[in-house]
Amino acid sequence: MADSITIKDIDITYLGHSGFVVSGKDFAFAIDPFLTGAPMAVKKPEDIKVGDIFLTHGHADHIGDAIQIAQQNDAVITAGFETAEYCRILGAKTSGIPVGGTLQYSFGSAHFRYAMHSGLLPDGKPFGQAASILFRLNGLTLYALGDTALHQDFKLVGSLYRPDIAFIPIGGRANMNIDEALIAAQWLGAPTVVPIHYDLYTQGNVDPLDFKKRLEENSDTRCLILKP
Ligand SMILES: [Zn+2]
Repeated sequence: MADSITIKDIDITYLGHSGFVVSGKDFAFAIDPFLTGAPMAVKKPEDIKVGDIFLTHGHADHIGDAIQIAQQNDAVITAGFETAEYCRILGAKTSGIPVGGTLQYSFGSAHFRYAMHSGLLPDGKPFGQAASILFRLNGLTLYALGDTALHQDFKLVGSLYRPDIAFIPIGGRANMNIDEALIAAQWLGAPTVVPIHYDLYTQGNVDPLDFKKRLEENSDTRCLILKP
């Protein structure tokens, strides 16, 4: 089982849990880089070379090693305002963004959208609105859902933005279970789907192969299970 895929010259490497590194010819960024203490993680924070880091929200399993990675790469963490401020106080360069906002980068854009999820930062303060992040890279639209319940914005994202690939949580305790994730995949309509968030905070044992089997039996969607 591979740890990465290449679509339209963009490499997507799974770090485990909700974490990825996305890289192209002259850019690299991380999403939710949770490595230290993460069950699936193989890479160490020192291995991650990126110019930007994006956090879907401020739970510890999503902030992960972002601050260390930001510091060692002189990279910027982009996240919701409360999560960005938490990281800034701990010594990282940050950029805060509301849900609904879009920021431009050398590699494309990042659009923060609604995720149905809530909670506290590691310091006990609320992190505000959690996000799913839509990346529009050169010729590739990628949707990183983070943690979220099933909700109808997936229909809008599917029809307006037509993602090429979606990272969909299936763990069922902090976010969607497999039944709900199958509906999300259908609504998003992405031809390629990667299941995430099944190694920790699950409702019982969650097997990504069950998700893959059911998804591919009932649609033309390709499900890729990546192993760090
Ligand atoms: Zn989580």
